[in-house]
Amino acid sequence: MIAVYPGSFDPTTMGHIDIINRASKIADKLIVAVLANPSKDPLFSVDERVSQLMEITQDMPMVEIRHFEGLLVNFANEAGSKVIIRGLRAMTDFEYEFQMALTNRELNSQLETLLIPTSAKYLFLSSSVVKQVAMFGGNYDKMVPPVVKRDLERKLGGIK
Ligand code: ADP
Repeated sequence: MIAVYPGSFDPTTMGHIDIINRASKIADKLIVAVLANPSKDPLFSVDERVSQLMEITQDMPMVEIRHFEGLLVNFANEAGSKVIIRGLRAMTDFEYEFQMALTNRELNSQLETLLIPTSAKYLFLSSSVVKQVAMFGGNYDKMVPPVVKRDLERKLGGIK
């Protein structure tokens, strides 16, 4: 089964990696798809986010990193996938994820969304939390992999 795990990954956190690890146990091939969304004003460019994920998953041959623009259903279709993976944190994620899942199924009835609950320790972890802690000089060592820490230090060092 080919699954697609889409998201902004701006940047990738340990929570994302947790979902990648879990999903790669279910799927034969997992495509992590970085959304190039011009309206979101990301900290990292699509290329930076893709190369971070490539470094993080370099020892996982079943994981492929790609990027996409526009509708997820079109990307999934072109990738030959009928399964969308999304992570679920607190209940606050639920409504949004449910809405997205139903919308995507409306657009393509062949597509199913699998919501994978996060590990309790990553319940409140998000890319925005990481960016805020990093910007204000807090310790975020446990929130991101070393690759992302290195890139955040580089990027924020340039801003400060
Ligand atoms: P998006 O802008 O599409 O929500 P994100 O990169 O913020 O992109 O999230 C991508 C997916 O990863 C979403 O399904 C989100 O719920 C999930 N995710 C983000 N952080 C975590 C976490 N700490 N634990 C589990 N899933 C997470």
